[in-house]
Amino acid sequence: MARRERELTEEILGQAPGRLAAVGLPACLAAVNEGAVARLLVAHEDMIPGFVCGRCGALSTGNDECPYRSTAALAVPDLLEKMEQRTLDDDGHVTMIRDALFSVAAKLRCPVTGAGSRR
Ligand SMILES: [Zn+2]
Repeated sequence: MARRERELTEEILGQAPGRLAAVGLPACLAAVNEGAVARLLVAHEDMIPGFVCGRCGALSTGNDECPYRSTAALAVPDLLEKMEQRTLDDDGHVTMIRDALFSVAAKLRCPVTGAGSRR
């Protein structure tokens, strides 16, 4: 792992969970959905299929996280790509990383509230 990648990883993993860091897909999805990601670190190379809500824009691995799920969930072939796009749209940064201890992690600009999408 390059030095810069290692520093970013240590910075994120050194944060108390639930504060200004998210590790793993569910936590990162929640952070992306709230526009809270300052930097997304992506280590996973394969596509992860998921859903995007056609109403609120929430990204999820299952179509069960939105009140409109039965009518508005659209399948997406690559959830990570959507997360990267969303992060960049929110003026965040995306770093691809190899040999990480996580599939995806994020440095947050604010804690995730759990209140869902702000869109
Ligand atoms: Zn929705």
